[in-house]
Amino acid sequence: RTVYINGDFVPESEAKISIFDRGFLFADAVYEVMAVLNGRLLENAGHIARLERSCRELKLRLPVTAAALEAIQNKLIAVNQLREGAIYLQLSRGSTGDREFDFPQAEVEPTLLLFTQARPVIDNVKARTGIRVVTVEDIRWHRRDIKTVGLLAPCLAKEYAHSQGADDAFLVEDGFITEGSSSNAWIVTEQGTLVTRQLSTDILHGITRRSLLALAARHGIPFEERPFSVEEVYRAGEAFISSATSFIWPVVEIDGKPIGGGKPGRVTLALRNIYVEMALAATGN
Ligand code: PLP
Repeated sequence: RTVYINGDFVPESEAKISIFDRGFLFADAVYEVMAVLNGRLLENAGHIARLERSCRELKLRLPVTAAALEAIQNKLIAVNQLREGAIYLQLSRGSTGDREFDFPQAEVEPTLLLFTQARPVIDNVKARTGIRVVTVEDIRWHRRDIKTVGLLAPCLAKEYAHSQGADDAFLVEDGFITEGSSSNAWIVTEQGTLVTRQLSTDILHGITRRSLLALAARHGIPFEERPFSVEEVYRAGEAFISSATSFIWPVVEIDGKPIGGGKPGRVTLALRNIYVEMALAATGN
């Protein structure tokens, strides 16, 4: 793979950062993951807007314009001949050549790096079969709306899920689901209403989440943005997760109990199809 680092396109084996990089020492870095379909970026404007917001919240300087960033992304897609998958983008506060908590002087260059990941997005087995989740306490910090690389808590949650024979975790705070470990969480009530948690500092403001709500509104699918409890998921007709690279994956089991008879739900699959249609149209198919 060719990767991008601070102005250069280089083979991944030649990309280097300082051991003092603040992303490495303090997780002082933000990131984004954008889906690529038919060799084209999906929902990129939303992701870049969220990146700019993360930077503002952390007083992190984005060293390139949104247009320049998109040019870098497209060049990386082209040189790696990526048809379907993702672009990972990370921006850290750079390095002063030592370990100091205080933010460095403004002239210290941030570290911007991007790489591609090839993976099936449209025809993904998890989209067909659904996933099994377990609930686990949400032990993350209180600014989950900022997309930082401090991801040890979700790594632990996923590790726990795998140890239980499940695919992923639903994170729980005060009895209510916040999110999936790297996705937004949704249920469909017995009455067919979509429910996902409202925006706050408790969750990441998913780009896919926002598009799904807009598409639901356009297609007359009722929805509510509010917290839902673990018990509500146990009783729900359907459940699913959303993210840039999964779009929608049905959740067919939680804590060993089947949801909707253990099969992907009707509303879930309908909404996934609506999103896939939008995505294919947006990327030129
Ligand atoms: N919530 C968390 C914690 C995430 O890591 C992600 C990223 O995939 C999402 C939600 C979904 O956000 P998006 O739809 O922008 O990918």
